[in-house]
Amino acid sequence: MTALLQARDIVKEFRRRGTKRSAEPFRAVDGVSFDLEEGATLAIVGESGSGKSTTGRCALRLIEPTSGTVTFEGTELTSLSASEMRRRRSRMQIVFQDTYASLDPRWTVGRLLAEPLRLHERTDRREETRRVGEMLERVGLQASHAGRYPHEFSGGQRQRIGIARALMLRPKLIVCDEPVSALDVSVQAQVLNLMKDLQEELGLSYLFISHDISVVAFMADDMIVMNKGAVVESGACADIIANPADPYTRELLSSVPIADPKVYADRRTARLRASADAVARQTEAE
Ligand code: ADP
Ligand code: MG
Repeated sequence: MTALLQARDIVKEFRRRGTKRSAEPFRAVDGVSFDLEEGATLAIVGESGSGKSTTGRCALRLIEPTSGTVTFEGTELTSLSASEMRRRRSRMQIVFQDTYASLDPRWTVGRLLAEPLRLHERTDRREETRRVGEMLERVGLQASHAGRYPHEFSGGQRQRIGIARALMLRPKLIVCDEPVSALDVSVQAQVLNLMKDLQEELGLSYLFISHDISVVAFMADDMIVMNKGAVVESGACADIIANPADPYTRELLSSVPIADPKVYADRRTARLRASADAVARQTEAE
């Protein structure tokens, strides 16, 4: 079986600002490879600056990798023309950490959600309104919220709007770039739980970027650990958390505030699960 998304030897170099053309560029991503299977979640873990976001953006070809290949649904993205890439992009979306930056504050939620439809599909107004309302309800908001602006919502609700917008074109793949890192733990659980439900219902695959091992343990099947642009370790989350092979991974795990990181990750994962269950019960009761 071929993976939905395959990255092979992705390299991304940035020219340092104000340096001569002949100066050595800075290598933010240094030969990263991974496979993401359909319906699965692959996490990219690593501390700030390790190259996670740059890898995610290269995977969607939002930025051009310096070298390496990305294959999505059997097609090598780097071989596509701009217009072919545009069409393909509707099937691959991204959700960002910072909803203040990613949701234009001057636009209503309705317009934010309708925009992808206007760019990619010929949808009439009535159908547009219907799909926006349906999606808002699908992510736990209300159709009537379409007339409001992003700042009228809480952080968790804004992230639901970001997720809703990413889903408007019925994508297969979503790159989630620290989607809950700006949220309180109880709100994190609600949003992560929603993302899991959506994944199951819609058959989504997630490339899930996070620096938080407990969030990753809750969400992902497999992970790659990045340090200074390179993958230092990859495999099943449970195996890596129980038996980190690389010293950098051990260090990442040991930065969590408890003697045994496995116990910590398990506890936090259990807490996330408990809050998620409580939310589900509450929603059912309403
Ligand atoms: P992470 O998401 O793991 O925190 P990033 O992928 O954002 O890491 O960044 C990796 C490295 O690349 C950092 O040192 C960052 O400063 C650098 N970098 C990212 N984007 C650019 C850019 N557009 N120009 C120059 N350097 C960049
Ligand atoms: Mg980042």
